[in-house]
Amino acid sequence: MGFKGNKQFLPSKPCAVCGRTMTWRKSWSKNWDSVLYCSDKCRAKKTCAKHHTSL
Ligand SMILES: [Zn+2]
Repeated sequence: MGFKGNKQFLPSKPCAVCGRTMTWRKSWSKNWDSVLYCSDKCRAKKTCAKHHTSL
């Protein structure tokens, strides 16, 4: 749902870690709202930082 007949428009948003623009991917269709990082590398960075903070 959400992209009926409008394939040329893909949502995008900045990565929470590096700020790089992430364009919507099919693999993210189910969890686009929860996608915050452009790559596993950035996710690991964030997780790492959070882990240190919570110690
Ligand atoms: Zn990133």
